[in-house]
Amino acid sequence: MSDALLALNAGSSSLKYAFYRQEADGHWTATGRGCIEGQVPEAHLAQVLALPGRSADLRALRGVVHRVVHGGPGFSKAVRVTPEVRASLQELLPLAPLHQPPNLAGIDAITRRMPGLPQVACFDTAFHHGWAPVTELVPLPGAIRAAGIRRYGFHGLSFEYIARALHRAAPAVAAGRVVVAHLGNGASLCALRDGRSVDTSFGFTTLDGLCMGTRPGALDPGIVLYLFQQLGLSSAAVEDILYRQSGLLGISGLSADMRELLASDRPAAALAVEYFIHRAARETASLAAVLGGLDALVFTAGIGENSAEVRARIAGACSWLGIRLDATANARGGPRISAGDSPVQAWVIPTDEEAMMVHHAIAVLGLGGQVLSP
Ligand code: ADP
Repeated sequence: MSDALLALNAGSSSLKYAFYRQEADGHWTATGRGCIEGQVPEAHLAQVLALPGRSADLRALRGVVHRVVHGGPGFSKAVRVTPEVRASLQELLPLAPLHQPPNLAGIDAITRRMPGLPQVACFDTAFHHGWAPVTELVPLPGAIRAAGIRRYGFHGLSFEYIARALHRAAPAVAAGRVVVAHLGNGASLCALRDGRSVDTSFGFTTLDGLCMGTRPGALDPGIVLYLFQQLGLSSAAVEDILYRQSGLLGISGLSADMRELLASDRPAAALAVEYFIHRAARETASLAAVLGGLDALVFTAGIGENSAEVRARIAGACSWLGIRLDATANARGGPRISAGDSPVQAWVIPTDEEAMMVHHAIAVLGLGGQVLSP
């Protein structure tokens, strides 16, 4: 029987999963994927393992690969989960207090339910390893930086997948200066040079950069001080404001969901969308400056893949950089959406973090075959 792998992406309020099987020709393909919404990782997992039609996949399972948001300064690539690795990941909890716990709960749940089954951890920070010192730097005193405070960057599995996909679709462009816009509930931009990350809009945490569903993106740190000192808020209250009440939801007072905001005729909804576009264009230009110019802009994730309007408005705000869209191709959703004579190309490429995870798991576990074309 052919081998199977299970990719798990355990978030704070959902569990995304994908089963992969190796075909006779060696290729790995997804045989089932989905998302279970709710709160408890253990219960999610029980549901995934009990899904109808999955028993053959489970019998053939050679390993489980997990998305882990933070690999800290130490993990620069995917690794097999050992007790030592699990202990190191525990130490990284303070760096991602909201995202890391459900990731690790997924690992622990598999350890309990399927002891001995190989597990692999893939990190959202790993793709950004190797930045220039100036890019990693947070300009605070040395003693503070020594506590591990530096810029890391996230969404790395998505950016790595897009870098490879762009290389297959347009190798000459992928060898140049590219900004990838991962626009979902969480949103960040990545500057790629020759397919490698050189900077991103995220920093020490997933709060920086772009306006997101419920997170504000870049914020004057004096505001956070003000919340503590003048408004007397507790750190739990400030955390809740920054992670769950701001961004599109905070501005609109209506929803964190871009679809709802685009469909609404309320002025506050329109302002939220306008701010999202404004910030995305501003950060795109900032990364184009880091790259010393721009050869292509790639849109991905829920908003980037599905909203022609948001793409058109961001591209419009970046037209001075040399981006001109082909309206028909944009309305169709790509893959290439720039006009033939546009100096900077624009693309829509659906991301696939689970495929990237399986790609790494195959290598770490030495299973052979491939999920992505080289
Ligand atoms: P996550 O970060 O949770 O993986 P997704 O990548 O699934 O998020 O993106 C979710 C976002 O994509 C939501 O804001 C949703 O409204 C938006 N979205 C999905 N489809 C569309 C669409 N057709 N038009 C505009 N926004 C969309």
